[in-house]
Amino acid sequence: MGSASKQSAFVSELLDDPEYGTTGADDQVEFNHTCGECGGHLIPVPTKDGRTWYRCEHATHCGHSLNACSSCGIGLPVRNKRTGLSKCSCGAEYQSCPSCQDGWLVERRGRYGPFLGCVSYPRCRGKAKVSKSQR
Ligand SMILES: [Zn+2]
Ligand SMILES: [Zn+2]
Ligand SMILES: [Zn+2]
Repeated sequence: MGSASKQSAFVSELLDDPEYGTTGADDQVEFNHTCGECGGHLIPVPTKDGRTWYRCEHATHCGHSLNACSSCGIGLPVRNKRTGLSKCSCGAEYQSCPSCQDGWLVERRGRYGPFLGCVSYPRCRGKAKVSKSQR
């Protein structure tokens, strides 16, 4: 009898679990990217050439958009305020843009050599010098 009651408790736990999983928790992880302009959600939009960009759900009154991670082309690096780095789920790390809420810096080539510019350029002009000590 002891083992039988144990087993039924175990089964009911298993049955409960899937219900927790369908309460929208998955969606929240998927769309966990917040628009730095209005606080809305950023929605991933696939492009024809297989890349992804993210646009704000409030397209008409915000219009904010972000390119995806240039390393994997799909993920959106998430800013860590403590480290000052934006890290993508693929493992790529970027320096966070000092001039906007959610941009990160990618290496670009200017007239005077490589520099770090915001991924949202030209909308955001945030940039930094390439520090040779880092790499
Ligand atoms: Zn927005
Ligand atoms: Zn990535
Ligand atoms: Zn920026």
